[in-house]
Amino acid sequence: MSRFPLVSFSDCVNPAEKEEYSVVVLGSTGSIGESTLRVIRQLTPRFRVEALCAGKQIKILAEQIREFSPKIVCVQSEVEEDALREECHARGIPLPEVVSGSAGLLEVARASEYDVMISAILGLGGMEATLESLARGKRVAMANKESLVVGGHLFVTLRESAENWGELVPVDSEHSALYQILFSLPSRERLRLVLTASGGPFLRTPLEELKRVTPEQAAAHPRWKMGRKISIDSATMMNKAFELHEAYWLFGVQEGFIDVVIHPESLVHGIVEEPDGCVYMHAACADMALPIQYALFHPRRGTMRGPSVLPGNSGATSLHFEKLDSSRFPAVELARRCLRASGNEALVFHIANEFAVEQFEEGRILFDSIVPSVANAVEQFSGARAHGVAELWDQVRELRVRLEELS
Ligand code: NDP
Repeated sequence: MSRFPLVSFSDCVNPAEKEEYSVVVLGSTGSIGESTLRVIRQLTPRFRVEALCAGKQIKILAEQIREFSPKIVCVQSEVEEDALREECHARGIPLPEVVSGSAGLLEVARASEYDVMISAILGLGGMEATLESLARGKRVAMANKESLVVGGHLFVTLRESAENWGELVPVDSEHSALYQILFSLPSRERLRLVLTASGGPFLRTPLEELKRVTPEQAAAHPRWKMGRKISIDSATMMNKAFELHEAYWLFGVQEGFIDVVIHPESLVHGIVEEPDGCVYMHAACADMALPIQYALFHPRRGTMRGPSVLPGNSGATSLHFEKLDSSRFPAVELARRCLRASGNEALVFHIANEFAVEQFEEGRILFDSIVPSVANAVEQFSGARAHGVAELWDQVRELRVRLEELS
């Protein structure tokens, strides 16, 4: 490892050994949030949900409150606070303390007594609460990659300065796989990390047909059931591009030592190569419940079992790996350029992609314009790197205005 990693490779306290284990779920109504609750449901009664935080899906949240009885819930704004009170009242669901917005998320991160925070709010909305939780010495099971892409340097600054830095355990399947391998190795010098990519729904689609791709087709991932935005990012390979940044910050490995290969079966999630050419591969079925469970139990393993991926059991008797075609998927090369740059290119990279995906969803740009429009924004709008969270948010707001003006 060439730089200080955000994850820890030393022995750690295993919260799952406590008699009662309490969890805060940021993004509980989303794909990762629901998978987390599925894991907790199977592992109850030892697990307790301390807090649930969501955006606007009030009916789903109310049902989660009924089932898990959290002490506190946070929603996106006061509008959703009122809607939640009404919904719970109408359905006879006992209402816990309700807070809202980024101040509410911080309150949850600071005030509640909990062992682990699952960070799974889409985008940057949960970044400050996640940093707060780490600064308070908590374990964070980190699904949210966007905060690392945009603010990885702020996580590093906190890690270097915090007296009581918590523990960051990756949830993203590729990074969980790499972490599980790396944690078990006696030496982590001069290793090469490989992220696998399924190739998404358009791996073999003729390039000229990409113009006609609809949002529904782009969101239909062939292997993983995920939230809509990350599914579209997988179709453009932007998701893998973000994962390159995520691996860089989590594991402290230089960009040139992180590869991406296409692996259509999506059974091998991460590969680590030793300096002598030997490799370790991590394989598991494509179900986010497994890396979530690992993040809860690390360094041990939980009792929930996924289907076997042993040859003959899963039906996949062969595994294929292909070189990434940069002309089909230019996002990964663009991600490398942003990582090598010293300004706020990564921030522009993420926000411009978020904006381009919204425009694609609204029918204002074509599917194959998403990555070129991001590259254009990186070229035009990059500046200095933010020194703190407040400055970072200023940059995000300013960039959104400039992108709107350009569109
Ligand atoms: P979803 O879109 O399914 O869910 C997003 C969650 O975030 C929802 O609970 C949503 O609430 C909540 N949310 C969004 N904005 C806000 C806000 N401003 N305040 C509070 N809550 C908010 O996304 P995913 O579950 O797919 O992804 C979540 C994160 O995990 C992302 O960062 C993604 O990159 C990462 N990830 C996801 C994987 C997957 O398999 N899905 C795999 C690896 C990483 P609501 O719906 O109520 O509005």
